[in-house]
Amino acid sequence: MTDGLEDEVGHGTERSSRTQSPSDDSPIGATDMLTARNPVTGEVLGTVPLMDAAEVRQQVQFARRAQHHWGALDVRERCDRLGALQDVIAGRARDVTNRIAAMTAKPHVEAAMMEVHATCLLIHSIRKMAPRVLAPQRVSPGIVMNKKAWKSYEPLGVVAAISPWNVPFTLSMAPIVSALAAGNAVVLKPSELTPLIGELIVELADEAGLPERLVCVATGDGSTGAALVRSGVDKIHFTGSTETGRKIMAGAAENLTPVVMELGGKDPMLVCSDADMERAAAGAVWGAFANLGQACLSIERAYVHTDIHDDFVGRVTEQAGALRQGYEPAYTDTTGNVDVTALIRHEQLDVIESQIRDAVDRGATVACGGRLRPDLEGDYYEPTVLTDVDHTMLVMRDETFGPVLAIQRVANMDEAVELANDSEYGLTASIWSRSESRAIEIGERLATGSVTINDHTVSYGIIGLPFGGVKSSGFGRVHGDEGLLEFVRSKAWTSHRFGPKEIYWFPIGRRDFDSAVRLTGTLYRRGLGKLQALIGR
Ligand code: NAD
Repeated sequence: MTDGLEDEVGHGTERSSRTQSPSDDSPIGATDMLTARNPVTGEVLGTVPLMDAAEVRQQVQFARRAQHHWGALDVRERCDRLGALQDVIAGRARDVTNRIAAMTAKPHVEAAMMEVHATCLLIHSIRKMAPRVLAPQRVSPGIVMNKKAWKSYEPLGVVAAISPWNVPFTLSMAPIVSALAAGNAVVLKPSELTPLIGELIVELADEAGLPERLVCVATGDGSTGAALVRSGVDKIHFTGSTETGRKIMAGAAENLTPVVMELGGKDPMLVCSDADMERAAAGAVWGAFANLGQACLSIERAYVHTDIHDDFVGRVTEQAGALRQGYEPAYTDTTGNVDVTALIRHEQLDVIESQIRDAVDRGATVACGGRLRPDLEGDYYEPTVLTDVDHTMLVMRDETFGPVLAIQRVANMDEAVELANDSEYGLTASIWSRSESRAIEIGERLATGSVTINDHTVSYGIIGLPFGGVKSSGFGRVHGDEGLLEFVRSKAWTSHRFGPKEIYWFPIGRRDFDSAVRLTGTLYRRGLGKLQALIGR
């Protein structure tokens, strides 16, 4: 690749050669191809260009052209047009689920809920929210009472959305839908492990009648992403690892491009002695092993009050051991017979195995799992529960991004809070207690972007709530009013209403100074309620 980006790219890809003649409509130049495969069967699903910097810039130009008209539409009209996209996805739910399941090998039910349903809900909610959030707002003019003041929101232009492979459709659509509602065009850079998600999204957008090339796709690996970062886009919305996030921020600094960083996590669950044990154990197993733990907001650590620790471990171990692991080749009558499948990214195996080895060497116990399934061919790592863990172990500090739940006994919830906060990450956390007020008191002390009581991760599905992290889990938000406002710039307006000349205009005289001092003394000494009410906010 060009532009000296070799040292910044992510993991490797399978390349082959491609030659194309330049034209306005086709990607320019000669470059490599990227092969998309089903991670379990290895079946080739398609090939896409591995775009270089020139091809990426071309996608940005296409998007910029499409944005001019789109950004000039009223927000209600844009939301209406996004409604057509919602209809298309909902109408093709089965087909879209199948396509995502083939790209990721995830169970069809999980793909249907976490990807297809989640995206329809997202579009539905953003359509409802955007006209309110993005409407111009009157602002009190304060002391300058002869002015009218308001603020409005304008689209940024072209947004780069760089997305990961673990929930590829939802995590691409989250920034796309908000960015489009706010009047932007988008260039999506999907993960090299799930590159066909871009093609699918463009196909759906075309079928919904969205303007051509309003959503463009830059397919490729980390070098393509790095080129997109430097392509002159107006904002970068990144979802991926903390390590890549750091590189993107360094690249974005060159053009002072603003960024949103949705990064890694090491989510804790805190289980109080009064927790509903049946619910807490079932919630732990789902929160840790859904999508085989390949989620930023998977539960990776559990801090459990000593009084209920053994009971909790017994229940979790039994349920984790009973999860049905396998592969659903297609959406058939047997769909629903598999709870978890295999790892999507082969290299993740090294991370998982080295963390478990390190933990065991330092005294941890493997309560269940802890190996690849001997009877299945592929990266079927078993749902694994570790006990007797502590914070000297990698598994309690580094992101695992796989099917490992480490359970640590705590003497009290103060200790649980201290350990939960003893992390580089701060994405989400859950607290399990029969007392909501107690859980809130604990949650207020946690350094995380969200807190869930007696469930986990569910706040991501409530689109009105902002989602995002603190510390090395990133900054900026998706969803909520905050998520929409990431994709606009505010413009402050004032308009003169009455009066021939302002007292602060030239020429300046000694009497003006005396008046200014008197005015300040009169208006801002607290206790002069009525006068101060005149100033407004
Ligand atoms: P990754 O960082 O390896 O890759 C993410 C994307 O960045 C891919 O499209 C990749 O091609 C691209 N990329 C790689 N190097 C780049 C560079 N130098 N410049 C620009 N783009 C580059 O992450 P991943 O392995 O795809 O996903 C797993 C990670 O994502 C985990 O750490 C997980 O916690 C995180 N994640 C976070 C969230 C969240 O909302 N906070 C959601 C899902 C996943």
